[in-house]
Amino acid sequence: MVDEQIAARGMRDPRVLAALRSVPRHLFVPPELRAHAYDDGALPIGGGQTISQPYIVAIMTEAVRLRQRDRVLEVGTGSGYQVAVLAQLADRVVSVERMVVLARTARRALHALGLQQVHLLVADGAEAVRPDQLFDAVLVTAGAPTVPNQLRTRLADGGRLIIPVGPLELQTLLLIERHGNSFTQSSLGSCVFVPLVGRSGWSSSQG
Ligand code: SAH
Repeated sequence: MVDEQIAARGMRDPRVLAALRSVPRHLFVPPELRAHAYDDGALPIGGGQTISQPYIVAIMTEAVRLRQRDRVLEVGTGSGYQVAVLAQLADRVVSVERMVVLARTARRALHALGLQQVHLLVADGAEAVRPDQLFDAVLVTAGAPTVPNQLRTRLADGGRLIIPVGPLELQTLLLIERHGNSFTQSSLGSCVFVPLVGRSGWSSSQG
């Protein structure tokens, strides 16, 4: 999977490639889909949600430029696969999921891998995280209509936020960086994610 779908598309960061190689993706897909666990696409994980395509996980993981000491927040635990990859690269990782059932399954998979440093929370967005708790890296793995201010303000100085933003059917993956009190924004390309639902996203009837 890593050679054919990720390295072959030009991704070279050795730390990211090693992190992807060390996480068995089949542990994060439903048993009946295990034969497809290393396919080049997203897969359903229940509740209308998906585990992201491996290449998208690679793009987000590379773009967020993690250092081992970074504090990392993921919004949208889903299967737990992306957070398992992040936990190979940083010591302190918090992931938030709004659907209890998915959080429970993800927790089991992460424990099976011995990833005790991953802290899972069931909440809407970053609601469960104290507002004064700042992160060096924030990854949102669900598409938002706009960049939620609530997430931008959780960035520490020098922090990076990766988030898909745009209409439900097609989003742009954005990298937002904080420098003191100013923010820069760049595009990493087009993507399609399931919707971010709740206070900082779409209403559940829209998503
Ligand atoms: N990172 C995941 C991708 C999951 S899909 C993986 O590697 O498998 C996106 C997830 O975001 C879904 O599980 C969905 O329930 C969750 N989600 C959507 N809106 C959310 C919100 N406001 N807060 C937390 N999680 C949310």
